[in-house]
Amino acid sequence: MSKPDQYNVEIPSNEVKDSNIKYFTTYTYGCQMNHHDSERLAGQLKSIGYEYTESLEDASFILINTCCVRESAEKKIYGKIGELKNLKVSNPNLIIAIAGCMAQKDKEKLFKKAPHIDLIIGTHNVHQLVEIVKEFEESKDRVLAVWDQAERLAPDVPTIRRGKISAWVPIMYGCNNFCTYCIVPYVRGRERSRPLHDIIEEIYQLGLDGFKEITLLGQNVNSYGNDTKEYGDFADLLKAVDQVETIERVRYMTSHPRDINDKVIDTILNSKKICDHFHLPVQSGSDTILKMMNRGYTTDYYRELVRKIRKAIPHASLTTDIIVGFPGETDELFQETLEFLKEIRFDASYTFLYSKRSGTPAATMADQVPLVVKKERLQKLMDVQNDISLEINQQFTDTVVTVIVEGPSQRDENRLMGRTTTNKIVLWDKQGTEEVGQLANIKITTAQTWILKGKLID
Ligand code: SAM
Ligand code: SF4
Repeated sequence: MSKPDQYNVEIPSNEVKDSNIKYFTTYTYGCQMNHHDSERLAGQLKSIGYEYTESLEDASFILINTCCVRESAEKKIYGKIGELKNLKVSNPNLIIAIAGCMAQKDKEKLFKKAPHIDLIIGTHNVHQLVEIVKEFEESKDRVLAVWDQAERLAPDVPTIRRGKISAWVPIMYGCNNFCTYCIVPYVRGRERSRPLHDIIEEIYQLGLDGFKEITLLGQNVNSYGNDTKEYGDFADLLKAVDQVETIERVRYMTSHPRDINDKVIDTILNSKKICDHFHLPVQSGSDTILKMMNRGYTTDYYRELVRKIRKAIPHASLTTDIIVGFPGETDELFQETLEFLKEIRFDASYTFLYSKRSGTPAATMADQVPLVVKKERLQKLMDVQNDISLEINQQFTDTVVTVIVEGPSQRDENRLMGRTTTNKIVLWDKQGTEEVGQLANIKITTAQTWILKGKLID
């Protein structure tokens, strides 16, 4: 990711850029929660007079919101931070801020590794950006703002959004699960649920602002309400969100397979707006590995869960995350994952090479798998999944699907893009009658592994 984040705000053209205005730009790595944090950081910058620019050269404030879930992400981010050094040399007034999970994990070590950084902002300090900038401007000294623990609930801050149609709404922060490979609980803290009425109010307002679709965010959304009995559980929240009349579709991520229950499935079945897409990261198809990962379920449990979902909502789509090369994964255990994939037939799988995260239990487990073996396994897994995804998508050929028009496709301005409730990406040639945010019926003519292509019909 080397492009700056795009926000849904007017960008002044070069001719009208005002040299008295201070511009900011942001780069975000990692998950949706990080992307939403960037929206909150950008909103705060705008509230103190900064304007957004896509141009790194024009920016007097550059923020990098970081991820440390895998080593590959960290390497890329250090590369990006390194690139900023020359800009700082040519413009000593430039402010460089590092936020997010790497900031939370490495704290002041980041200053040592990259002395051109001015601000380090931890995951629990996102809401404090205005104060942090003020402190920096007054002291002209670097600021480290990294709390070890989160406040129970951080106050709301101004936000600018990336899209016009879809918006992210956090429902809870942190994670209590401690999967043995995962750094998230160490850098995002323990689970904290947002009050139900704050969530509903925000969604209602987003609908009034023109958003059609919202995605409820949390590391494990099914744990919503577990930390306090005040707001009900995740199914109660879904029921309440389903009744917000200003919006049309509701998505959520991520669900932990262990915690999704009959009440949630039933609520989705009986809802009008909750999308029929289940993202249930299985991580491995081997019971031995699942146990070592501390996932808290077996493959039989997962099979039964999928059976229940498909019985209740047969047309629902199912996607997953899988890690290959977890310590101790032998060829035989990997084969179990391949077979599981063939058996369950996910619409899509997001596959990752296991990455050792220092401080997590898996990092010191015996029998770490060599990189070359991990890469071979990843390729095998992707080959099997790609065939399955294509076969599933081919079933849509000649059918009509309904999408919300999201806008031009990334590669071609004359092509529009939308998604089905099952989260399939659909592209079609623009006819000129479509309006962004409206529903459109598309007859599918070509199915590919990751996308469907078709024609607009009346
Ligand atoms: N909370 C979600 C869950 O439990 O599925 C996922 C959050 S995590 C940021 C997203 C995905 O990254 C995980 O599902 C997992 O597949 C992957 N992941 C996490 N730690 C990893 C590691 N150390 N190496 C490789 N992949 C990892
Ligand atoms: Fe990480 Fe597991 Fe928590 Fe997901 S549930 S964020 S994989 S510890």
